[in-house]
Amino acid sequence: MAQGIQEDVMLNTALIKELADVAKDEALLQGVLMRIKETPNSSELATYAPFTLFPTPVPKAVFLQALAVQTHYNTLVDKISQDPDFLQESLASTVAVDDFTARLFRIHQQILKEGRSQTIVLGINRSDYMLDQREDGSSSLKQIEINTFAASFGGLSSHTPDVHRHILKIAGRLEESQRILDNNPAAGLARAVAKAWELYGSEKNIPTKRKRFDDVFKTGSLDHDKRLFVEGEEVAVVYFRNGYMPQNYTSEQDWDARLLMERSRAVKCPDISTHLAGTKKVQQVLARPGVLEKFFPDQPQVVEQIRATFAGLYTLDLGPEGDKTVALALAAPDRFVLKPQREGGGNNIYGSEICRVLEGAKTSTERTAYILMDKINPTASQNYLLRRDAPLIISNCLSELGAFGVYVRQGTDMVMNECVGHLLRTKSSEYSDGGVAAGVAVLDNPLLV
Ligand code: ADP
Ligand code: MG
Ligand code: MG
Repeated sequence: MAQGIQEDVMLNTALIKELADVAKDEALLQGVLMRIKETPNSSELATYAPFTLFPTPVPKAVFLQALAVQTHYNTLVDKISQDPDFLQESLASTVAVDDFTARLFRIHQQILKEGRSQTIVLGINRSDYMLDQREDGSSSLKQIEINTFAASFGGLSSHTPDVHRHILKIAGRLEESQRILDNNPAAGLARAVAKAWELYGSEKNIPTKRKRFDDVFKTGSLDHDKRLFVEGEEVAVVYFRNGYMPQNYTSEQDWDARLLMERSRAVKCPDISTHLAGTKKVQQVLARPGVLEKFFPDQPQVVEQIRATFAGLYTLDLGPEGDKTVALALAAPDRFVLKPQREGGGNNIYGSEICRVLEGAKTSTERTAYILMDKINPTASQNYLLRRDAPLIISNCLSELGAFGVYVRQGTDMVMNECVGHLLRTKSSEYSDGGVAAGVAVLDNPLLV
């Protein structure tokens, strides 16, 4: 493990077993918890959220680069959400073949037709990166995707630094322990929600309620000013934890509930246009020459900063350019990832499967449901992944760094635009896809080197 925990520790089985026990205990003490999958809706049984035994070395320069570009990504997402023509053009080919994106797009169109009833916008997003290994041994920050909907782990990642500090102290690594960064995205996310709530015009304490689409369908309504009421109470801010995958909508009523909230005056996080701004198709269109310049006409340095984080992204739209992409992918499938418009991990297509999908849809519109992306090759590091009921074995690991961004806009006035923390997730290199919630990656902390 480059500049990380030394081999004498990594291979000392007795010490590792002892540290793993201490680590799990500390995770419980620090609130690094999750409910168990057998009873996902019950608070009676919980366990530690999966995490790495040791923090992972991350070069300081690329870490700081990810934090520094985040406010520009916030601005970019917000500008896209305000540009109906861009969304329409970018998503046209996708919407024609992908029912889920089409459904979201129809809500977006209906809102545009009716006129937006709220000028306050609350954005919480997380831009995710991997560090692509260059030939000279250095690494370059490349964006995997940006999540504008239910960007998660702001809460747990606020608690994991103390767990790693404790493990390193017990391992006699005091110096490294002091180098674990503070991280508190939860506080930043809460400040943004509170700001949106305040601008809405609320004055009392901030009560929060968790509701399902079904609850909103049954008890939700709009008054003549389009104020949203659920179970008789006015709602200032709607934070969507759910609604990013087709399976989240189990009936037409769930879709009706989504539409009701979108039409309402409540501040939505995200609103439907910001949701669409986070699609992989939009990510691919942004990488086309001249597109970023359109959003930042007088800020070439901002364009450059954002573009520096782009990996190669290729259209599969019908036409010569898309045909070229197909040929590129078929010639060297291991160099690419094929991505549909889905979220939550486990949806991407790799290797020979890329050939199967693209050969089947070589010249048909089906291929436009996907985009093609260069595969990022991060340097592997060794670690132990602590997960309930999993054996304690050393794994070859790859990490993904996320930066949390929040913004609040009122009309044309950007009231808040900040980077509020980071997330490091690490997975065994045998998996090509999948996040923490998908059961593949675990929580981690960067150890800056
Ligand atoms: P999702 O919205 O489902 O999280 P992602 O684009 O983040 O979709 O892809 C899921 C996972 O697949 C990532 O966490 C990463 O592990 C892997 N992955 C995605 N894109 C790439 C890429 N270009 N290179 C290498 N791995 C990738
Ligand atoms: Mg995502
Ligand atoms: Mg992801």
